[in-house]
Amino acid sequence: MNNTDAIIKKHVQEGGRLTRDDALILAREASIHDLGNLGNARRQAIHGNKAYYVYNQHLNYTNVCQNACKFCAYSKREGQPGGYVYSMDEIRKRLLSRIDEPIREIHIVGGLNPGLTYDYFLNMLRTVHEIRPQATIKAFTAVEIAFLSSTYHKSVAEVLADLQEAGLEAMTGGGAEIFDTQLRQKICPEKISGSQWLDIHSQAHSEGIYSNCTMLFGHLETWENRIDHLQALRELQDSTGGFLCFIPLPYQPENNELKAKGPDGNDFLRTIAISRLYLDNIPHIKAYWAYAGVKAAQLALWAGADDFDGTIVEEKIGHAAGSASPSGLGEKQLREYITAAGFSPVQRDTFFREIENISA
Ligand code: SF4
Repeated sequence: MNNTDAIIKKHVQEGGRLTRDDALILAREASIHDLGNLGNARRQAIHGNKAYYVYNQHLNYTNVCQNACKFCAYSKREGQPGGYVYSMDEIRKRLLSRIDEPIREIHIVGGLNPGLTYDYFLNMLRTVHEIRPQATIKAFTAVEIAFLSSTYHKSVAEVLADLQEAGLEAMTGGGAEIFDTQLRQKICPEKISGSQWLDIHSQAHSEGIYSNCTMLFGHLETWENRIDHLQALRELQDSTGGFLCFIPLPYQPENNELKAKGPDGNDFLRTIAISRLYLDNIPHIKAYWAYAGVKAAQLALWAGADDFDGTIVEEKIGHAAGSASPSGLGEKQLREYITAAGFSPVQRDTFFREIENISA
């Protein structure tokens, strides 16, 4: 019996927690077939044949950012051509343009724009809540929360409390990238550290704000970096239980300084499977079609992913970096893609509560 057979046997028969060393062996040596089967068996045991999606709308309120992460094709410096900020009227207009659709979640993220006031953020949430009172507001990365805290001289706890009062119900998982300090220096030197990112999520969880978590992969990182990243997320989840979903984000290679290659299909599916196996305490793993493409996302459902994300309507960030997938999908189409892949589509809300009234 070789290394991977022994680990697979141990994992399947004893169901123990995957160690760092075993995960590294599986990631490097197991066949994609074995790895995919393991990931799929775990997802089937938890979620059966269900594949979740959410009827959501993205709002990327500004692309002006004081950072210049090397993989980012979305941001513009203050005053640079192409920079934009949505006024409250623009936000209203964008939400009202789809007011007849049963949107359940508004996902809000943007750049770190020093030209905005603190009130802008509170007003934005209040405006969204006023127009879409039934939708959950899932907003901001830990990086934006840290920016609000440092720019407006408030503690993270104060920022979270103010945002919650204005309508924030959950946080997004972006900005985690890869936690390794040296690698972070290379790909996003101005960004908050991995430990700050984890600390902000920990504080959010303790205030009852659930969040997602991510990992940007397929650039300069090694499998060790990836497993260490997953380990840090698993440890925080053991202590707070506040992560809803893990989203492995494949690096998008165009229009950015990093000039890395990006993961191929094999690497993408291996990462999905290893994530499912390693993060045994995070219930959902997302196949984010907006970054991975619809076809890869369909396959990912067979490698351990259980969530197909949502309708999105207008994804800007991955598409600025060359994502070839559509920037939004109709609900009917989304359900057809899930069904064609061999799974049962289940509409959910932000917190993964199932919604019975399907509008398609
Ligand atoms: S990834 Fe986020 S923080 Fe980094 S440059 Fe882009 S918008 Fe700014």
